Amino acid sequence: MTTETANPPQQHEFQTETRQLLKLMIHSLYSNKEIFLRELVSNASDAADKLRFLAIQNPALLDGDAELAVDLVVDSKAGTLTVRDNGVGMSRQDLVDNLGTIARSGTKAFMEQLSADAKKDAQLIGQFGVGFYSAFIVADRVTVTSRKAGDAQAHVWESTGEGSYSLEPAEKAGRGTDITLHLRDDEKEFLEAGRLGYLVRKYSDHIGLPVRLKIDDGETETLNRVAALWTRPKSELTDGDYTGFYTHLAHDPESPLTWAHQRVEGNLSYISLLYIPSAAPFDLWDRDKARGLQLYVKRVFIMDHGAELLPAYLRFVRGLVDSDDLPLNVSRELLQGNRNVEKLKAALTKRVLDLLDDMARNTPDDYVKFYGIFGAVLKEGLIEDQVNRERIAKLCRFDSTASVDGAKVALADYVARMPEGQSKIYYVTADNPAAARAVPHVEGFRKKGWEVLLLSDRIDEWVVMHLHEFDGKKLESCAAGGADLEPAVATPDKEKAETEFAPLLERIGKSLAGKIESARLSSRLVESPACLVVSDFGLSRRLEKILKQAGQAAPVLPPVLEINAEHPLVARLKTAGDAEFDDLAAHLYDQSVLAEGGQLEDPAAFVRRLNALILSSAAPAEAASRIIVD
Ligand code: ADP
Repeated sequence: MTTETANPPQQHEFQTETRQLLKLMIHSLYSNKEIFLRELVSNASDAADKLRFLAIQNPALLDGDAELAVDLVVDSKAGTLTVRDNGVGMSRQDLVDNLGTIARSGTKAFMEQLSADAKKDAQLIGQFGVGFYSAFIVADRVTVTSRKAGDAQAHVWESTGEGSYSLEPAEKAGRGTDITLHLRDDEKEFLEAGRLGYLVRKYSDHIGLPVRLKIDDGETETLNRVAALWTRPKSELTDGDYTGFYTHLAHDPESPLTWAHQRVEGNLSYISLLYIPSAAPFDLWDRDKARGLQLYVKRVFIMDHGAELLPAYLRFVRGLVDSDDLPLNVSRELLQGNRNVEKLKAALTKRVLDLLDDMARNTPDDYVKFYGIFGAVLKEGLIEDQVNRERIAKLCRFDSTASVDGAKVALADYVARMPEGQSKIYYVTADNPAAARAVPHVEGFRKKGWEVLLLSDRIDEWVVMHLHEFDGKKLESCAAGGADLEPAVATPDKEKAETEFAPLLERIGKSLAGKIESARLSSRLVESPACLVVSDFGLSRRLEKILKQAGQAAPVLPPVLEINAEHPLVARLKTAGDAEFDDLAAHLYDQSVLAEGGQLEDPAAFVRRLNALILSSAAPAEAASRIIVD
């Protein structure tokens, strides 16, 4: 094997995707070209954070150069701007992996999300971890000279952004990375002190290490404030500071809905800065995606995605915690089961719930927006977090028969509206709100003016298994055996009706044996002839369906068929002969399954029976003769 130094600069091809991305950077992001500086300074600051972290275990890495900084170095004559850091640096392999390929799965998603809106696209860059390439918006050649902390050899990477890059060994005095931009002729504004100072203050003021400027042989000037944003007093910070920091931290193109910044001293000392985003990340439902707050210990960055710091149902929260009580060498393993971490998690959870509460009270429009995006995630808390269940329930919103203009309702408002005589909170579950509204079981409740919650998120089936009551009121399904509207809707002469219908109910029970447990008269139906009711111990029929779809065995208890004594179809049953009776009964069963969004076991039989019924009732004689002729 020959040594690297003996080789001429090696040319390497970019991946196809990288090439497409570069093209796109250069052409479509031009109107927002200044963001390149934000991205490069942000990378330099990350490199410093990584080095600080590694130096906790291995102080030798600092090698007498512990003052970490980012320098912007201008060479006016050469027309270059160099972003220099003395952070962790990159080895040869790092350069190939990080700057030559975009191996991350995010790249494809990035390309797909690109729109014609250059401003939005520019924001997407950071979110998808492709910030480095923004250098090519203003530079026709980019030279990266880097030496990894602890390595003796440096390497230089260079590209014009047109399909390939070169890589060779290089000389470099200290560790870290120099990114030199050979500015295009019409981008010379980025050599000017005023322009660079303005951009650093605009995008990078909150960075916790100095960003300095040196032009040619001039003096070095520090451009930013140097204190990490969260360590500064609230009174000094503007909304713009907070949203700017959010962009840096979350790489989210949208401004956050709200945030909470808190310094806590006492038993447990920490600073937290928590944001509620206004948009879902593209991978919100990707279960493998690492999430969680950033963790700092005594201002030193420890890790991204401290998953132990907040419960999973608050995974949409972005932000950081800076703790004074954890050891600097804390690892993920140590986080698990650490008592201080447990306490921190409980305190942060409470802080987020307070924040949501504030939003619901004071900026209800924002809260509606929040709930529309993250409500289904928050609801998981009703299942997972017994301690905070009541608080979370207060924060949840549901579709309801009382919704005005589709607005979701809070349980507290439901309870406040409950009329005299109603003692429980009623709900029905279906695949979507419209289907839930149309479920026959709701009819009697609606007629009586009792509100019904229309639950249609998949998770709702589990929610109602855990949230048994709210504010002292039991939650009950309209489709459960116990849900009872009597005496209001019951026929005036109930007993008489029951005796009168007893033979019919028994006959239905026999005809549908195996499918239903029994038949009985309903007090919850108004327009529909029949509905299926789960016995008190049965799984909800929708949950049964969801479990079946997931390939899990669902213990099936046959439901009760409730019939509407006033309905003409039921009257017709009474006089039907045996063959017609069985068809009609089977039909009532099938349509009850359909009306609540269920699936028929034998759809073809249903269609056959329905056609027969239509023909026999529409014009019996003519229909019959036609069938004979056919
Ligand atoms: P992101 O920073 O979002 O991951 P970038 O395209 O900006 O995406 O950078 C890709 C990777 O290159 C970074 O994750 C990092 O590992 C490496 N990198 C970029 N700039 C530097 C730097 N100044 N020092 C060390 N590593 C860097």
